[in-house]
Amino acid sequence: MPGLMQDWPLTLDRFLEHARRWHGDREVVSRANEGAITRCNYTDIHRRAKQFSHALLEHGIVREDRVATLAFNSARHLEAWYGIMGIGAVCHTLNPRLPAEQLAWIVNHAADRLILADALCVPILKQILPRCPSIERVVLLADESQLPPDLGAVAYESWIAGRDSGCVWGDFAEDTAAGLCYTSGTTGDPKGVLYSHRSNYLHGLSTLMPDVLGFSGRDVVLAIVPMFHANAWGLAFAAPAAGAKLVLPGARLDGASVFELMETEGVTFSAGVPTVWQGLLQFLEREHVRPTTLKRIVSGGSAAPEALMRTYQEKYGIEVRHGWGMTEMSPIGTVNSPPDLATPALEQGRAIFNVDMKLTDDGGHPVPHDGKSFGHLKVRGAAVARAYFRRESENILDAGGWFDTGDIATLDEGGILRITDRAKDVIKSGGEWISSIDIENAAAAHPKAALAAVIGVPHAKWGERPLLIVQLKPGASASAQEFLDFLEGRIARWWMPEAVQFVDTIPLGATGKIDKKRLRADVIDPA
Ligand code: AMP
Repeated sequence: MPGLMQDWPLTLDRFLEHARRWHGDREVVSRANEGAITRCNYTDIHRRAKQFSHALLEHGIVREDRVATLAFNSARHLEAWYGIMGIGAVCHTLNPRLPAEQLAWIVNHAADRLILADALCVPILKQILPRCPSIERVVLLADESQLPPDLGAVAYESWIAGRDSGCVWGDFAEDTAAGLCYTSGTTGDPKGVLYSHRSNYLHGLSTLMPDVLGFSGRDVVLAIVPMFHANAWGLAFAAPAAGAKLVLPGARLDGASVFELMETEGVTFSAGVPTVWQGLLQFLEREHVRPTTLKRIVSGGSAAPEALMRTYQEKYGIEVRHGWGMTEMSPIGTVNSPPDLATPALEQGRAIFNVDMKLTDDGGHPVPHDGKSFGHLKVRGAAVARAYFRRESENILDAGGWFDTGDIATLDEGGILRITDRAKDVIKSGGEWISSIDIENAAAAHPKAALAAVIGVPHAKWGERPLLIVQLKPGASASAQEFLDFLEGRIARWWMPEAVQFVDTIPLGATGKIDKKRLRADVIDPA
């Protein structure tokens, strides 16, 4: 017998519709890649997103069509998201930091019909457009004055100007596709994760819980995590739902730029990858300044080093929540909120609502949740992928419907997850596993280290041994022995790196994580 409640499909337009009706004058602030600050509010975003939908419809975009964005976080990008998704088309976010040939491959695979791009991304567009025949029109997220003459593009501002803002959003099934994001693809071709309205809706609600992102309508949210990195971790849905002021920082995410925006806008909450928090911390230490309004940050995407969390919490009084997730999970899987500022959240935390997890051994048998036994981490939930776009015939779930995250982890009796490594990064030494993440975290606490990475190198007796690679802080010099002495007592004896190598820069991938594939190629196998 069906319940007797109203029909209210969980479609994403409702987030912005809600913000317009109940938080209409709450501010949305953007910093353009070129530096200028613009201000508007949720009412403006809603109106302009509808005008954009109108332009899309007039162009002939229909449900299921893919519309790509190649842009950093801005109000125009947010309008584009809602304008695309509102009419049932699919918003395909492209990461401008990917190599051009990979971007072209992804656009072709997705068969995107339109592409919206920042003016900053014009050089990338020029490289990929000749290889992307499906693209019918380029819309530059800019006004007429920023339009390069030779691109054949239309300026977003001219495209939406004077258009009707009355088009209807929603009115389709909640399992309709809404967003498309390709995973970084460290092996093989990139794989498209196709989010639905329902999955993003439920994920967005889950993120708003007190122990997850936990911000409220009184908060000022700085969305550092890019909108092209797995749904901006749900911020573009959660902020309008809560009625929080939203600050969109564009491409400049160095410590000085982030700090300036935090101070001028009164930011209380932010989320991003550890390298951004590392950069901000180095700025604070160098300039002897402190954030005056920031209360909480969420760090995710790769393991947050203990020293980083401790310094933010103990020295600056800023709570650090440690989150774990992946593109296939929309993306948040777990969050660890520390009980107090003296206790950093070292582990990755508990599953958020709508996510279930388990550990198995190589044969798929259960591994005990005792905080010690390592296993393959498998997940299922309302916002977890069941197949990849245009590869629907490939089964990516096990017999019980679980998705293998590719991570190795432990779970303790209390349900706290600890990520040991990516399965392909874990170091197998003499039949035992060594966590590269743990050694990296210990080494990153050395006062002279800017970044630390650990990779396995072949070893005649043990199979593999850890090699520590360090990028020193500017102007610092250190010996290998200094680092080995520092690690003494901080990690198990048999985890001690075979060698320490210093490099000018540790390569970062397109989402700001250490690129171990490139590091291995540079360090072990230099051409
Ligand atoms: P992506 O889909 O590009 O966001 O990458 C997801 C992967 O990033 C996960 O499977 C993990 O290997 C890694 N990851 C994300 N968050 C964390 C974290 N807090 N600690 C360790 N690894 C993480």
